[in-house]
Amino acid sequence: MPRVAKVVVDLSLNREFDYSIPDELAETAVLGAPVIVPFGRSERRGFIVGVADRSDFPHLKPIRAVVGSKALIEKRITDLARWMADYYLAPIETAIRTVLPAVVRREPAGYLRRLIVSPTEAGADPGAAERLRARAPKQAAALDALMSGGEIFLAELARRAGVSEAAIRALEKKGLVRIGEGVVERQPEAGRTLLPDTPPTLMPEQAAALETICRAVDTLTPPVVLLYGVTGSGKTEVYLQAIRRAADRGKGAIVLVPEISLTPQTVERFRRRFGDTVAILHSHLSEGERHDEWHRVQEGRARIVVGARSALFAPVRDLGLIVVDEEHEASYKQAETPCYHARDMAVLRGRREGCAVVLGSATPSLESWHNAHIGKYALARLTQRVDHREMPLLKIVDLRAEMEREGKPNVFSRELVQAVSERLRRSEQTILFLNRRGYASSLVCPKCGYVAQCDDCSVAQTFHKREQRLICHLCGKGQPVPPRCPKCGDPAFRYAGLGTERIEEILARFFPKARVARMDSDTMTRKESYRQVLGDFRVGKIDILVGTQMIAKGLDFPNVTLVGIVFADLALHLPDFRAGERTFQMLTQVAGRAGRGDVAGEVIIQTYTPFHPAIQAVRRFDLEGFYEQELAFRRELEYPPFTRLACLTARGPDDAATADYTARLAEALRAAGGAAVKVSDAAPAPFARIQGLYRHQTLIRSTSAKAINAAVRAALAAVRRPKDVLLLCDMDALNLL
Ligand code: ADP
Ligand code: ZN
Repeated sequence: MPRVAKVVVDLSLNREFDYSIPDELAETAVLGAPVIVPFGRSERRGFIVGVADRSDFPHLKPIRAVVGSKALIEKRITDLARWMADYYLAPIETAIRTVLPAVVRREPAGYLRRLIVSPTEAGADPGAAERLRARAPKQAAALDALMSGGEIFLAELARRAGVSEAAIRALEKKGLVRIGEGVVERQPEAGRTLLPDTPPTLMPEQAAALETICRAVDTLTPPVVLLYGVTGSGKTEVYLQAIRRAADRGKGAIVLVPEISLTPQTVERFRRRFGDTVAILHSHLSEGERHDEWHRVQEGRARIVVGARSALFAPVRDLGLIVVDEEHEASYKQAETPCYHARDMAVLRGRREGCAVVLGSATPSLESWHNAHIGKYALARLTQRVDHREMPLLKIVDLRAEMEREGKPNVFSRELVQAVSERLRRSEQTILFLNRRGYASSLVCPKCGYVAQCDDCSVAQTFHKREQRLICHLCGKGQPVPPRCPKCGDPAFRYAGLGTERIEEILARFFPKARVARMDSDTMTRKESYRQVLGDFRVGKIDILVGTQMIAKGLDFPNVTLVGIVFADLALHLPDFRAGERTFQMLTQVAGRAGRGDVAGEVIIQTYTPFHPAIQAVRRFDLEGFYEQELAFRRELEYPPFTRLACLTARGPDDAATADYTARLAEALRAAGGAAVKVSDAAPAPFARIQGLYRHQTLIRSTSAKAINAAVRAALAAVRRPKDVLLLCDMDALNLL
């Protein structure tokens, strides 16, 4: 029997504390158990993340109590959390918090218990209600309602019968009904009836990909498969059938999809195929739903989990397969501590639990592409769209030429206007993409050049017309538009730059009869609005859908025959070595929304830099050529995937002090890392100030992740951090802004 428990308390202390296990708790104080421990002068909740026979500390306090009746985390999950904390340079308790949903940690929220009414034998006798009818009509009504439906919640029965709960209690006294406590499971999407579907016969490429994946499931050589399939090539169908095969072998599965593409459409496909053994985990669930879904998984009643990033840590039993769909998505990387990447953690979890991992994308990350090309991952390709549908026809519109011809910059080129009106005439649908919300990206005084800036951040405020407000897209703070220029007093403002709101307005001018909807985080503030708009679009109540990256992925609407990319250059010139890769991925994904039905699709890309390699590659569907070129450039400059890179960002209220700390950190990194690492000079971050805090950063690169880890730990220990300066350690950083 272990005598010592290592406990992580729910506070940020980055330590495990040793406690002794008293005899009476020997059975229950096991690894993963939630406990209450004495801490300082009070008590804290915590988790047992390890057990041992003895401790290096002489006087241990005993664990006070074990909460609940079962361990909530298993060793394999606590081990993952430990590994995460270590690799991503994060405190252990933040990692524990990551692997265990808050609502489960905070038990006993528990299952929802409610009173359920069922008839007794006497009550089920048809005469029973009749005998009550005259003297107790309410009770008779309740009994009628119960008999017409069967078992029902007390409150629900009272509502249906239009009687008080007391009337039903009276029935209980007479021995006509039983009232008992029951557990109500809160299942997301429950109550929507879904028709089961039959799997289609796979196309040859799909069948080959399925074989590759099944071999990975069975033999783990190699355990990871990169499924590179053009948009609409039937990747999801391959996942579904691979999961079926794993399930037939008694194995469970986890499917990760980016939060944004976790649409009802996606969830439905899994529910249709696998019914109730599917659990859904993502942030839009209510706490109760999340609690119950998680426990269904933990108890083994659900074997397949579909969810967003943190669903990777779901306690699925006998895991056979992990799918990471759209594996190139940056949203798999958590922006705060621990800055883990769910794809990379998936590969790790797969290795530890002997399970296969499929990374799927139409536009894989360069990291995964590279791993496939050096043979670390198996590569399966789907080069054809299902049913040999044509890839859309891509046209590039040179906005410089358009400007010369028209004498002014036009938001909609002649080609685009023509193409949209064509679709309206033929009753086909259009998607217009612009990855910026709001009306104008800045408000400029034409007289003195004043640009409205956020007080707290080093960016221009975006003008939102409907609210008549200037809003900062970094911190969200806003204010009404001033009546005149605060600097020179001139009343005439000019709006510079575009946003989706402006596109909507221009459309109304060009096509007054068209039914237009906008989809961005300004319009999609409610959980239901997303489903509503997509539903309307599907049934043809909307002609043109305008949106940001929200509409870039996963949508599959057969009647969309035109995709217009209003301004392709938005992200192309950001100071980030991945800008080209990101633009290529984004544009290819958006273009993939066109022509998913029987009519061929068309994509119009408007740009000021038509000859940029990323844009040319999108037009020619030349992923391989573009990636080869990008990889050559990364190798040359020693960037990932040829090196590992960590980004350390310090932020503080005092510019000089923050800069000074970052500079000393860079020095210490160099000293500690020696020749094994390359450390960039400390410099202001591209967004030099956010929410009033100045930001400085330094990058550290090396071919060895271990060398980076060691150097960062040594530097953190060597340089004292000023009290009001915060530091974010982002290992394998994707966001350098
Ligand atoms: P992707 O995930 O690559 O975008 P999907 O799996 O969503 O592609 O497939 C696109 C559409 O084609 C879906 O409606 C899907 O049901 C259908 N589909 C996929 N595979 C087949 C197949 N082998 N036969 C017929 N239809 C298929
Ligand atoms: Zn701001």
